[in-house]
Amino acid sequence: MPRHLLVNARLATLRGGRYSIVEKGAMAVDGGKIEWVGPMAELDPRLRGDDELDAHGALVTPGLVDCHTHLVFAGNRAREFEMRLAGATYEEIARAGGGIVSTMKATRAASEAQLAEESGRRLDALIEGGVTTVEIKSGYGLDLESELKCLRVARSLEQPRAVSIRTTLLGAHTVPPEYRGRSDEYVSFVCEQLIPAAAKAGLADAVDAFCEGIGFSPQQTRRVFEAARTHGLRVKLHADQLSNLGGAALAAEFGALSADHLEHTDEAGVQALRRSGTVAVLLPGAFYFLRETKLPPVESLRRHGVPMDVATDCNPGTSPLTSLATAMNMACTLFRLTPEEALAGTTIHAANALGLEDRGVLEAGKRADYLIWDAEDPAELAWTIAGRRPTRIITPGAH
Ligand SMILES: [Zn+2]
Repeated sequence: MPRHLLVNARLATLRGGRYSIVEKGAMAVDGGKIEWVGPMAELDPRLRGDDELDAHGALVTPGLVDCHTHLVFAGNRAREFEMRLAGATYEEIARAGGGIVSTMKATRAASEAQLAEESGRRLDALIEGGVTTVEIKSGYGLDLESELKCLRVARSLEQPRAVSIRTTLLGAHTVPPEYRGRSDEYVSFVCEQLIPAAAKAGLADAVDAFCEGIGFSPQQTRRVFEAARTHGLRVKLHADQLSNLGGAALAAEFGALSADHLEHTDEAGVQALRRSGTVAVLLPGAFYFLRETKLPPVESLRRHGVPMDVATDCNPGTSPLTSLATAMNMACTLFRLTPEEALAGTTIHAANALGLEDRGVLEAGKRADYLIWDAEDPAELAWTIAGRRPTRIITPGAH
């Protein structure tokens, strides 16, 4: 990325998790980093030069961060969608061997090239919507080779694109058919073989688990977290989505980067998140798609000052969503976040949910990931349902 100066911009810097607008702003970028941000009137004339990018008064925000996706998978679940509309519930489909397992079969069978092709299309859709950093979980391989394959594919998607990818090992997503009725043994496999192998290969930035009645118990989740800790990996958790198993408190106990879903989290869980500094990731796409009615405790999270993120949860079974702006709209409409909270939850807080302190906010020293929008008011980003697209995406990784 060449040195340049952005001028005449309406900068929503997101400092402090607020819009923190700089009117008639300028931003100097050098070496892929932001060197200076402020009003044009205070701009050091020595920063002016030939390489000026004129925003003509348009809104500029940090690049968006989608901190929770499962976008590496093969096949689709349109048939299951149809079944569910004919009356079958998510739990019934899961117990009947459908759900995650059907995607697992397609994903195991797919070559790395095929998986990269299918998954890359979903990633490209996110990028077109302004996502410059994305987290991708494994969890549809569920055996040693297939899980590592998914992580390798996730990492490989970064190269030809202007995006940063963080990978999360979600071996404890569901019990694969070969371990049916032996979930403790499967957890042993995850802890003793899968986590060590992914850590040794350097393929995972974090470890996640699905703590739920149809997933893994809190005790099993604890074993997974202990194995992650042994191998120096941070944890995240699918917590309290369909029932309250105390997932938020468990995540907090292990200093998790984030606790995700949280529809059934109670006051004690929220307080635990606050004490541990764990970010709450809200996933309105799954709430919408499953037609859930139990709302996450947004008012309590707000009152306790727990940072709230919004992510797509892009996955075939419960959130086939590839627009982070649409997720922002859903977070406002369904969960009553303010557009400002939704934008903070897809920039500064979302970066923190990935342990990335170097982005998500426009200030000196941060990565120069930023977006120019055909908009003036930042609330416009969460206002439209179909999702806005930025007119320019500027990132140090741009090819
Ligand atoms: Zn998820």
